[in-house]
Amino acid sequence: MATKTLTGACLCGKITYALDLPASEPNPKLVLCHCTSCKRYTGSGFSTNIMIPKSALRWTSGTPKVFLDSSADSGNALPREICGDCGSHFTSGPSGSPTIALKWGTLDDEYRQGAELWGEIYCKRKDAWLESVGKGEVRMAGMS
Ligand SMILES: [Zn+2]
Ligand SMILES: [Zn+2]
Repeated sequence: MATKTLTGACLCGKITYALDLPASEPNPKLVLCHCTSCKRYTGSGFSTNIMIPKSALRWTSGTPKVFLDSSADSGNALPREICGDCGSHFTSGPSGSPTIALKWGTLDDEYRQGAELWGEIYCKRKDAWLESVGKGEVRMAGMS
C-alpha cells in the first residue's frame, strides 16, 4: 500500500514522530471531542483529533510519558501520551484498541493544511460559546 508520511512534534521539540497514512487519503479528517476530560487535558474548549491506526505512529525522537486518565466520560481509564518536559499532548486511546486519537495540533504546519472536519463527539458537553466562533468582530491588535 502506498503511504504518505506526515511528521509532528511537541512544543519543546524533544519528542517527534512520523505518521504513515494511506496515500489515497492524505488529508487528516478531524474529530472534535467536547468531553470534560479533553477540556482539562487541552486547556481548551475541545480537543482536535485525527483517528489513526496505532501501528501507523512511530516515535522518531524521545519517548512520551503515559498518563492514565481515570476521569474519562467513557468510564474507562484512558491512556494519554504527553511530553514530560513541555506538557504537549500527543494521543489518547483505550488500551488494546488498534485505533488512537492523535492530537492534530502536534502535526507539523504543512500537514495541518487541507484538514477537513469529519465529526464531533460528546456533543452533550459542547460549550454554547462555540456557536460564535468565527463570527467575532472584535480582534486584538497585533494578533492577527
Ligand atoms: Zn516537549
Ligand atoms: Zn474527549
